[in-house]
Amino acid sequence: MQGAVVTEELGKKSVYGRELGSFKMKCPFCGGDMIVKETEYEVPGLGKVILVSRRCTRCGYRKNEVIPLKSEGHKRIYLRVEDKEDFKAKITRSPFARILVPELGLEMTPGIDAEIFVTNVEGVLRLFLDAAERIRAMEGGELSEAEKELRRRVENLEGGFTVVIDDREGISSVSGARQGKVVVEEVDGRKADKPGSQ
Ligand SMILES: [Zn+2]
Repeated sequence: MQGAVVTEELGKKSVYGRELGSFKMKCPFCGGDMIVKETEYEVPGLGKVILVSRRCTRCGYRKNEVIPLKSEGHKRIYLRVEDKEDFKAKITRSPFARILVPELGLEMTPGIDAEIFVTNVEGVLRLFLDAAERIRAMEGGELSEAEKELRRRVENLEGGFTVVIDDREGISSVSGARQGKVVVEEVDGRKADKPGSQ
């Protein structure tokens, strides 16, 4: 998977985290002791989050979950990708965001285990390409036109599409985009952000 998985990193950089506490609960899988630890972190681009890590001492089940301390309200970020330069824009996707590329018919919904990831536009397209390749490997079948097109765009950094980040908590962000390429829409009907900000 392209893009750093920030939650794993967070666990190691405890120097930036503030431990809020830990407690024990019964593991839902084996009934053993599960240690739940909550730590507050400041994540660049996301603000303050709480990392909840669960670890079962008996069966070894582990799960890390990131919860934002403050919801910014449902937001949609539109990043217009025209040429190679635009592929460098950095996308920080929260675990609550869907990513869509309407022109290419692509949509990715966060799974229950979704984590924060930081990547660029090329990385986003590669996520879709990896998914398409996995599905084809499992189900067999011919290389579709859609997959061919996606591969061509990734390899040649060919623009002409919009990346939409639809975040119900409003904490995803785009940075390093050129002026006028980013529009932020507040879906809850509040004011729309100026294009090109951030
Ligand atoms: Zn267990």
